[in-house]
Amino acid sequence: EPEVLPAEGRGRLGALSRLAPEPMKVILNWGRRYSLWVFNFGLACCAIEFIAASMARHDFIRLGVIPFAPGPRQADLMVVSGTVTDKMAPAVKRLYEQMPEPKYVISFGACSNCGGPYWDSYSVTKGVDQIIPVDVYVPGCPPRPEALLQGILKLQEKIARESLGERYGATRPSTAALQSGLV
Ligand code: SF4
Repeated sequence: EPEVLPAEGRGRLGALSRLAPEPMKVILNWGRRYSLWVFNFGLACCAIEFIAASMARHDFIRLGVIPFAPGPRQADLMVVSGTVTDKMAPAVKRLYEQMPEPKYVISFGACSNCGGPYWDSYSVTKGVDQIIPVDVYVPGCPPRPEALLQGILKLQEKIARESLGERYGATRPSTAALQSGLV
């Protein structure tokens, strides 16, 4: 499928992608898929499975995922693991907006996918995708650490196929625009 780049890219990467779209896509996407600094937004029991996935037995660092970024401004990937309550939802959205582009989200577990066992609760957000875009959904209550590894592999496949124009061009609002509240 041919890459369709926008007329105007943003910054140096946008200019490079217009000069040599396909080689730049391969190089940039290869680098990004194997250096994902992850920010764990742990909200309930699923967060424990995330921690297990980061330890020696499952060891997601071998996939190029670097656990426990100091904060959202240093992270490429947010893993939302646990029950997103309506009270917590604005904080999830705010921290997502503080992450620099390109950024990705994995929704880990039934609660963050759709509310899970609390699907009829008055206080639970029925899916984190109601407030932020989600790239990969991992099912389960809780999912096993292996399921997170599978989700990471799926995300890396998605990054490898990604259009540079989509991530570096003018088609997505900048983080500054998001933070200004204008979009
Ligand atoms: Fe807990 Fe299940 Fe919700 Fe995960 S999906 S946070 S294990 S109730």
